[in-house]
Amino acid sequence: MNMLNAISVDVEDWFHVSLFRHCIRPSDWDQLESTVVANVCRILNLFSRYHVRATFFVLGWVAERYPEIVVAIQEQGHEIASHGYQHQIIYEQTRDAFYQDVKRSIHILESITGQKIRGYRAPSYSITRSSLWAWEKLVELGLEYDSSIFPVRHDLYGIADAPRFPFKIKVKNKGELVEFPISTIRILGKNIPIAGGGYLRLYPYWFFKKGIEQINAEGKPAIIYFHPWEIDPHIPRIAVNKLRYFRHYGNLALTEERLVQLLQNFRFGTVQQVLKSHTDLPRWPKVEGPTTDNAQNGKYQIAFSNGKQ
Ligand SMILES: [Zn+2]
Repeated sequence: MNMLNAISVDVEDWFHVSLFRHCIRPSDWDQLESTVVANVCRILNLFSRYHVRATFFVLGWVAERYPEIVVAIQEQGHEIASHGYQHQIIYEQTRDAFYQDVKRSIHILESITGQKIRGYRAPSYSITRSSLWAWEKLVELGLEYDSSIFPVRHDLYGIADAPRFPFKIKVKNKGELVEFPISTIRILGKNIPIAGGGYLRLYPYWFFKKGIEQINAEGKPAIIYFHPWEIDPHIPRIAVNKLRYFRHYGNLALTEERLVQLLQNFRFGTVQQVLKSHTDLPRWPKVEGPTTDNAQNGKYQIAFSNGKQ
C-alpha cells in the first residue's frame, strides 16, 4: 500500500497574502471582494469526490466572518487547525502580539467547532531562525503540532538546515511540540521545495510527482499545501511588479487539474492521521534552547549539534 501523505489548505482570502502586505492593509480587507467561501466549497467537493480528508489551517479573520465555512469543513470530516488570526509575519511581530493573535484564532475556531485545536501553521511559513521563540508560545497555547518550517532558502521564510521530515521540539520546562516541515526534495545537495501552492502551479506535474515519490521512497510522508484562491483563475487582480504577479497569478487555471492528478496518484490524509503513523521522531535542535525568559538580545539562542550530541 502506498504511504499516507498529508494534504493541507491554508484558508485565507486572496488579499491576505504576505506579498501584498505593503499595498493592502488589514483595515482594507473588509472592503475587498471575498472569494474564500466559494473556493473552499470547490475544494470540499473535490476532496469528497476522491474520498480524501485534509487539514484546513483556517485564518481566524475568515472564521469570524464566515463561520459556516468552518462548520462545512468540519462536517465533512476534515481536521480544523489554526492559521493565526490576522496573517501577520511572525518575525515582524512582538512575542506578545503573536501569542495574542494565535490565542484569538484558537478561541474562534474552538467556539465554532466545539473541538480542541491541535495544529498551527504560520502565515508565510514565517517561523525562521529569528522567530524560533514562536514554538514556545505555541506550547504555552496548548498546541500539539506546528507545520511552519520550510527547510529552504527564500526571501520571506526558511531555515535551510532544519530537518526535512517530522521532528520533535522540546521547550524547556514547558513541553513538546511536533514539527511537520513543508516538503522538499534534495537536488545537487540542496533542498528544493515541492510542497504545493506556487510550486504546484509553476513546476511541470511529472517533476512534482517524482518529488513525492522520492520522499516516500525515503520512508517519509510528504505534506502538500495550497490556498483557496489558487484554484480560482477569476480572483480580482491588482497591479504588482512582474515577479509578484507571476508568483501570485501564474497558472491558476492549472491548479485544480494538478490537484486531481495528485489525488489520483497518491494517498492523502490529515496531518494528525499522518503523524499518528510516524511516532518515533528525532529531536531538533539537539541541544535544548533557553526559554524566552532568559534568551539574550531578543534572540532565541540555540546550539546546533553538527551531528554530535
Ligand atoms: Zn497564509
